[in-house]
Amino acid sequence: SFSHHENWQRMWRNPTPKPVYDVVIVGGGGHGLATAYYLAKEFGVKNVAVVEKGWLGGGNTARNTTIVRSNYLWDESAQLYEHAMKLWEGLSQDINYNVMFSQRGVYNLCHTLQDMRDAERRVSANRLNGVDGELLDAKQVAEEIPYLDCSKNTRYPVMGSTVQRRGGVARHDAVAWGYARAADALGVDLIQNTEVIGFRKQNGAVIGVETNKGFIGAKRVGVVTAGNSGHMAGLAGFRLPLESHPLQALVSEPIKPIIDSVIMSNAVHGYISQSDKGDLVIGAGIDGYNGYGQRGSYHTIEHTLQAIVEMFPVLSRVRMNRQWGGIVDTSPDACPIISKTPVDNLFFNCGWGTGGFKATPGSGHVFAASLAKGEMHPLAKPFSIDRFHTGAVIDEHGAAAVAH
Ligand code: FAD
Repeated sequence: SFSHHENWQRMWRNPTPKPVYDVVIVGGGGHGLATAYYLAKEFGVKNVAVVEKGWLGGGNTARNTTIVRSNYLWDESAQLYEHAMKLWEGLSQDINYNVMFSQRGVYNLCHTLQDMRDAERRVSANRLNGVDGELLDAKQVAEEIPYLDCSKNTRYPVMGSTVQRRGGVARHDAVAWGYARAADALGVDLIQNTEVIGFRKQNGAVIGVETNKGFIGAKRVGVVTAGNSGHMAGLAGFRLPLESHPLQALVSEPIKPIIDSVIMSNAVHGYISQSDKGDLVIGAGIDGYNGYGQRGSYHTIEHTLQAIVEMFPVLSRVRMNRQWGGIVDTSPDACPIISKTPVDNLFFNCGWGTGGFKATPGSGHVFAASLAKGEMHPLAKPFSIDRFHTGAVIDEHGAAAVAH
């Protein structure tokens, strides 16, 4: 019986902030909560607060299409995302919360000879980095994805595909709630409805955050605010090479299971999976303009649905139920920034753009290590802000796929 549901225990406390913490994390999305969890669990830093302006996991964490994969082209990013993949594989057990991680396979379709060459190169690079990957021809694709239009009559006939079979999806809210509950149990203070409006500095170092509810002191501060990161850098007195764009997604009415993997196409520019509930989960690329309103424009949705119907004509009469947008922080090389900043003891983890959900455990883990030691974790080092001065950028535009 549900008659006593009002007595269910709260998943985490609602603490009053302490005057000072060893580490304050700004932003209670998946990445911020994962950072706090690993700080307390792996690195022995338990005097930690996460300061969130809204509610935990209400930002891009709650708005993303949950695709997880690690088949990036370059060594630096493949290693970072594969680090995350390995953590995903044990996550539900680790945080004792079912994040419904489902390794159902992620396909990147190829429609031209050049797509096929790029795919072959990427699969080879992935394998050299210990990341699983396979290249399929058109016949194999048709067998593995039954409702995909693999005929010769389409605008861009399917020539083949890559597949990462360890890729898939996870339940986004569960990731935030699971990390939050586990972090709280280790003593982390989760402070919601509290907006950081400034950084207090002394002799070039941060000593805490100003919030709309008062000052909170901190020996180190980690900012993990996704689409608001450019704004946060402004408050701290420097600029980041980020653009904030709306990114939209939509879901259909629930239907019987017909798609048991994740399928993406760069050429028609759309991607699709099906949730356990039966909704088709659909997304595309960013809206072209900069902005902070968590919504997007209609022509992007229309274009996305054109792409989906081109791939799956069988879906042409399925009704769409809901559409929404998040604000993603895109960087010039389609790679994140995990870095120290011009302000001592102030660290930023941002620039994940359209594809950071898949990195949540890895991002949190390497950022926690960096905040605990005051030195960047080896996997995070290549993602320093400095790369935009030195020129050592990591161009993942190709393997960043449609958007994810
Ligand atoms: P968020 O959940 O946005 O957390 C940042 C938090 O910071 C927010 O809760 C916000 O309220 C808080 N904050 C901001 N400013 C302040 C402040 N001043 N004070 C206090 N708190 C503040 N990635 C994938 O890997 N796969 C996908 O399939 C995928 N699909 C996507 C689809 C859409 C439509 C969108 C929008 C994104 C998608 N992404 C995907 C990207 C992914 O969602 C993000 O890269 C990732 O979630 C960002 O990290 P986060 O979870 O910490 O961000």
